[in-house]
Amino acid sequence: QSPLSKSDIEPSRLKILKTSTPKELPALESLKFGHNFTDHMLTISWSLSHGWGTPEIKPYGPLSLDPSSTVFHYAQCLFEGLKAYRCKDGKITLFRPDLNMTRMNRSAQRLALPTFNGDALLDLIKQLVRLERHWIPQKEGHSLYIRPAMIGTQSTIGISPPDSALLFVICSPVGPYYPDGFKPVALHGTTEHVRAYPGGTGAYKIGANYAPAVLPQKEAAQLGYVQNLWLSGPEHHLTEVGTMNLFVVFRQEDGTLELVTPPLDGMILPGVTRDSLLSLARSHAAGTLHIPNLATRLTVSERGVTMKEVCEAAQSGRLVEMFGGGTAAIVSPINKIGYRGQSIDVPVEEDGMGPVSRPLWTELVGRQTGEIESDWSVVV
Ligand code: PMP
Repeated sequence: QSPLSKSDIEPSRLKILKTSTPKELPALESLKFGHNFTDHMLTISWSLSHGWGTPEIKPYGPLSLDPSSTVFHYAQCLFEGLKAYRCKDGKITLFRPDLNMTRMNRSAQRLALPTFNGDALLDLIKQLVRLERHWIPQKEGHSLYIRPAMIGTQSTIGISPPDSALLFVICSPVGPYYPDGFKPVALHGTTEHVRAYPGGTGAYKIGANYAPAVLPQKEAAQLGYVQNLWLSGPEHHLTEVGTMNLFVVFRQEDGTLELVTPPLDGMILPGVTRDSLLSLARSHAAGTLHIPNLATRLTVSERGVTMKEVCEAAQSGRLVEMFGGGTAAIVSPINKIGYRGQSIDVPVEEDGMGPVSRPLWTELVGRQTGEIESDWSVVV
């Protein structure tokens, strides 16, 4: 059979089996990120001979897999993360989900797992979210975290492109990352481990990037830090923070601000939040968008930043703020970096944020929750 005759994901073939035992909705105060799951999940299996099979929405529950499945041995797995928001007017929206579909296909391609029509998967995700809409808490800062994933399921020991795979999507109601206001975090400038390296897989959202980061995180916690500041190369270029993209704000010689994030050089995950923050800041700087309370003379740079530059800027008072950006926390301010036995203080203002992160966060959250009209917001 030629690859062209194999079927792609086809939403019109969807089969829905509803649960006969819906769960009780969790109390909002007890929500812990990623601990509660909704009643249903979406599954689509793939085989080399037939392509993508029948999409099914069925009761959430365990998967049955052969112990020899390649995912268990060779980390043939990838995932995505996005949120469904309940707007004040009752609409349910997704934020730039096309970027997640593109990124998921890039990860699949990198792992020699099957790629698929992103619009078709998005259509099915919307149907799942519609069915689970009562799980999206009707409270500020709350949302439904959507976790699409794909695994290689070939049941033979041996590493090759799998002849079978499973794509599934589960949903988890989540509360605000910082329920009591922003809490800046202290980072361990990690020199004893690396997250990504030139020519490696750091730019892909694949399981293999995450398991090796658990021990470094544990070690950072033992030293009293919340997260790793991942560094790269002999000059200790800053790359990412924990599982977030990194932003640094410098005050330039002429007093204006520069918002910097490391470039997509193959070691950085192309975050949806990263792209959104950059785009908002650039439009503001260009005068095509006005973000209240954000300096207008702002330079936005995708460029390398070394620990030397950060240390010198901190000493000379030119370090304005640093923060992480990602779907889970949106913006996560940083107040300290432990690096080679030194402690670098990073400025934070009284509310835990800074002069660039605060207005950008307000603008981004406004667009996600429908308070600010935006074509990034996609109705489910
Ligand atoms: N970097 C890494 C390593 C991540 O796992 C994530 C979370 N997906 C991000 C950055 C942020 O990406 P996004 O804004 O798409 O959530």
